[in-house]
Amino acid sequence: MMSKTVYFDNNATTRVAPEVREAMLPFFGELYGNPSSMHAFGGQVAAHITKAREQVAAFLNCEPDEVLFTSCATESDNTALRGAAEWFGREAKIVTTAVEHPAVLQPARRLKAQGHEVVELPVDGVGQIDLGRLRSELEGSRNAIVSVMWANNETGTVFPVRQVAEIAKEFGATVHTDAVQAAGKAPLDMRQVPVDMLSISGHKFHAPKGIGILYVRRGTKFKPFMLGGHQEGGRRAGTENVPYIVGLAKACELASANMEAEAEQLTAMRDKLQAGILATCPNVRVNGDQSHRLPNTLNVSFEYIEGEAIAYHLSDEGICISTGSACASGSLDPSHVIRAMGVPFTAVHGSIRFSLSRYNTMDEVDYVLEKLPPIIRNLRDMSPFGPDKAPTTF
Ligand code: PLP
Repeated sequence: MMSKTVYFDNNATTRVAPEVREAMLPFFGELYGNPSSMHAFGGQVAAHITKAREQVAAFLNCEPDEVLFTSCATESDNTALRGAAEWFGREAKIVTTAVEHPAVLQPARRLKAQGHEVVELPVDGVGQIDLGRLRSELEGSRNAIVSVMWANNETGTVFPVRQVAEIAKEFGATVHTDAVQAAGKAPLDMRQVPVDMLSISGHKFHAPKGIGILYVRRGTKFKPFMLGGHQEGGRRAGTENVPYIVGLAKACELASANMEAEAEQLTAMRDKLQAGILATCPNVRVNGDQSHRLPNTLNVSFEYIEGEAIAYHLSDEGICISTGSACASGSLDPSHVIRAMGVPFTAVHGSIRFSLSRYNTMDEVDYVLEKLPPIIRNLRDMSPFGPDKAPTTF
């Protein structure tokens, strides 16, 4: 067993909060009734779902009947895109971005194969989209479907979702946002941001894996993806995952209660980490929009070396980080997000992501700042590439 674990991979998944675990336990024990049953034993469980839905609605500042519980954000994203596309038919153009999570990009590409016009908006060097380009893509469209993420999972870049939604609404589009990485780190206020649908995943903010939310504004048109039961008002069939629903609601409550203080704590740790890396490691670039960024995320490219090698050596020191999104790791292809931002060839393979949570400490930041620079120096010494190495031709 590794003696020390420093977990800086919270955009991949998070530790379940003890309060969340505690709230879930009765539903693995005595409260096992089916919430759809006629009897009072099931009915008391249904009451806990009602309460959980109200807690989530408070978190999103929306109505409880606008909250659907799903199995994960991948399901939420698929339901939003494919459900709206099925409602509107092939004439619906889909406008999304080149840096979405595969849970959005792949359904969008499937819809393209099925005859929809699909546009993946490019991003600039810091990973932002051009709102003028969004507008021009929507001009003349009917019943378009716009999906722009709230914040990017790899770089932490936060998108102007409110403006995106306002523009999309001028053209009568249906607007979806994947808010998986923003949940718990930034306020999600459905009365302020006119999106129609929004996806969240429990395991990214201290609830367990395997529970998600799809927010659906009243009146939004989509065809349900999961059929076979009356649950969730007929919009998502399947017996409810009661313990996880209760856990997710608890995670929402904890996040709302501490969001500002946590954001401050996360920013302080992240900024110290960033400053320390820039001060000790030459030929490093920070990826993402530093003026619109999640407080917990730092994505850096170390030129001339491989992110996988850095991750491997950090892992030997008990430090957990990621190279690109967890779904993409295991493949040596550079991340589609980093490539879309036009990061130079010398840096594109050397990108790693640190992502922090409320359970991290400044001591852990110091530990990483002690272990990382010698790893970078050693890898650079071994690399055939570098500013002071003999030129290489390909
Ligand atoms: N969207 C984003 C931005 C993500 O980061 C993730 C997970 O990595 C997902 C969607 C998928 O979430 P889930 O694991 O709940 O399916």
